Amino acid sequence: MIKKYFIPETIEEAISLKNQYKEIGKYLAGGTILNLSFNKKKYEVYIDLRKLNLDEIKKNEKGNLEIGACVTFQKLISSEIIPEQLKKAAMLMENRNIRNIATIGGNIVGGKTVGDLIPTLIVLEAMVKVYGEEKLVLVEEYILGKDERFIEKIIIEEKNLEKLYGVRAHSRTSDDLSLIGAAVTYNKDQEKIKDIRIAVGGVASTVIRLKDIEKELEGTILEKQLLTHLIRNYVEPLTDFRGSKEFKAYLAGELVAECFEIA
Ligand SMILES: Cc1cc2nc3c(=O)[nH]c(=O)nc-3n(C[C@H](O)[C@H](O)[C@H](O)COP(=O)(O)OP(=O)(O)OC[C@H]3O[C@@H](n4cnc5c(N)ncnc54)[C@H](O)[C@@H]3O)c2cc1C
Repeated sequence: MIKKYFIPETIEEAISLKNQYKEIGKYLAGGTILNLSFNKKKYEVYIDLRKLNLDEIKKNEKGNLEIGACVTFQKLISSEIIPEQLKKAAMLMENRNIRNIATIGGNIVGGKTVGDLIPTLIVLEAMVKVYGEEKLVLVEEYILGKDERFIEKIIIEEKNLEKLYGVRAHSRTSDDLSLIGAAVTYNKDQEKIKDIRIAVGGVASTVIRLKDIEKELEGTILEKQLLTHLIRNYVEPLTDFRGSKEFKAYLAGELVAECFEIA
């Protein structure tokens, strides 16, 4: 049960509170995950990020896109400088009520398994600026960590936005989390595909990049049957109330193939 609620004015203050309360303390962004009743029972201290000015979207001096950790899904969709790739991914979020409050930072930290933005952020090689760390961390690597290092912003390089791109997701109903989500980017040299990135959510404990399959496809002419076969045999989803492992593996193959088709 929540016993203490802080609204720090600086990131340093927020981090110092987190260090003080450790696992019973949580950074609170939109709260769409944290305010679920079973989560509220788990934690005692919320550190609300609303006053930290982390909701800005801008292009930096290198022309790269910088998105504050507390930018909401709806703000991404409404922004004039956000590229179509991210808008399409943000539109997968099930409804506008949630899009109005759910943040990109919360999606990366809280939605590691199937967060709708994550496959796209991975194939766009998006990087996370962790507060206090010089080196930027790929989203792909950040989500593998168990700790919740403070995300200040997300950075996407201009050059990664020039590739062909596709995103697809499947959910059981139009008002449900995605069961499987996928995104791809690639370039084409005549009919051959190259510089391929494939990311799939819902088939492991985090969204994963299918590096072995990317290598196998590099420089080839895409064949749908081979692609779906490779993916079905590569991913190892778990059976749960949402679907059997066979169904999820089948879906993963089909969705990735659709991503290539629509790119
Ligand atoms: C009804 C409902 C429907 C949903 N539908 C979807 C959907 O369709 N697609 C989808 O992807 N998700 C969905 N979600 C999940 C959730 O809304 C998203 O993952 C959302 O982006 C989480 O963001 P938030 O700001 O609400 O996170 P919060 O709940 O505030 O936080 C989530 C986690 O992130 C941590 N955190 C937040 N910001 C930072 C930061 N800057 N640095 C470090 N840690 C941080 C928090 O401490 C917490 O552990 C849904 C949730 C609900 C309740």
